[in-house]
Amino acid sequence: MIRPGGTIGIIGGGQLGRMTALAAARLGYRCHVFTPEADSPAERVSAAATVAAYDDPEALARFARAVDVVTFEFENIPHESVRLLVGMVPVRPCWRVLAIAQDRLLEKEFFNTLGIATAPWRRVDGPDSLARAVEDLGTPAILKTTRLGYDGKGQIKVEAGADFGALWRKFGAPEAVLEGFVDFEREISVIVARGTDGAWAAWDPVENHHERHILATTTAPARIPAALAAQAVEIAHAAAEALDVVGLLAVEMFVTRDGRPLVNEMAPRPHNSGHWTIDACLTDQFEQLVRAVCELPLGSPARHSDAVMENLIGEDVERWADILKEPEARLHLYGKDEARPGRKMGHVTRLRPRGA
Ligand code: AMP
Repeated sequence: MIRPGGTIGIIGGGQLGRMTALAAARLGYRCHVFTPEADSPAERVSAAATVAAYDDPEALARFARAVDVVTFEFENIPHESVRLLVGMVPVRPCWRVLAIAQDRLLEKEFFNTLGIATAPWRRVDGPDSLARAVEDLGTPAILKTTRLGYDGKGQIKVEAGADFGALWRKFGAPEAVLEGFVDFEREISVIVARGTDGAWAAWDPVENHHERHILATTTAPARIPAALAAQAVEIAHAAAEALDVVGLLAVEMFVTRDGRPLVNEMAPRPHNSGHWTIDACLTDQFEQLVRAVCELPLGSPARHSDAVMENLIGEDVERWADILKEPEARLHLYGKDEARPGRKMGHVTRLRPRGA
């Protein structure tokens, strides 16, 4: 067990690291962030930072010596870098989880092997295999990079009659996944926390609304039947168990019009669709991550209020003063200086009495 007073290493310096460091501080821990970005949102609330490239082995070794455990807040870190830390310090979750979550092909194979449904998909590595995949799956379909995709980056919609050669050249990646288009009723996600002893806890499934591929709002709880909610939680738990996750695992799913969950993707870290838990639950996702990686007992994820979380993206953040005047609104700002379009600057959680 890593007792309060210990140091948690966080790879990544964004808002997820910042909120983890704030939760860790409340329990008496220190955080040390590793990030290539100087003066990052997480560094500003942490005891220490190593500012270096994610593939700098000496900096990684120094970081490992300075902390008691390592976790991450960002998944596009080379898993090879995380692997370098093995034997120097406990890394939670382990690098293998990261390697699967980073690669859409491995991720889909993983879920399908567990008997968990995803959208129909095919591996594609050129115009010919793209043509065959389109023949199998029909149009529209979505071509996605296997690696380094997030918030809709690295995706193209493939329509009927497309020129596969031109499309593949424009896409510019060596390997991709073609996914059948899901005419979903809604999108939901579940976050599960798991400890070294296999103890686990999940928050209620929530409903996510995206705009221009970026999460805009999360509504908690999701407006779905109890049996579907239980099934969604079981999917997330089964995945966390199979991967032996220590920490958090967020699983995003589509709900089809006939009420079936199809997994879209997973993230082994705190997730934007879990920010509402800070204000509406007995234990939030960030504190639960600290508890899990430090081998403390997990807290109750019970929801004391219903909530709608709204991301403040780009210039939305200029509404901060008005939001502060709303009695049910809880404002969280990430301390980022420049409000670029598409950049997550903060979020607001609006609370309602449970079940109201
Ligand atoms: P992703 O980067 O895979 O999380 O995709 C971002 C968003 O694009 C999702 O949250 C959906 O709103 C949409 N999307 C992704 N894949 C599909 C699909 N196969 N069918 C329909 N919409 C999708």
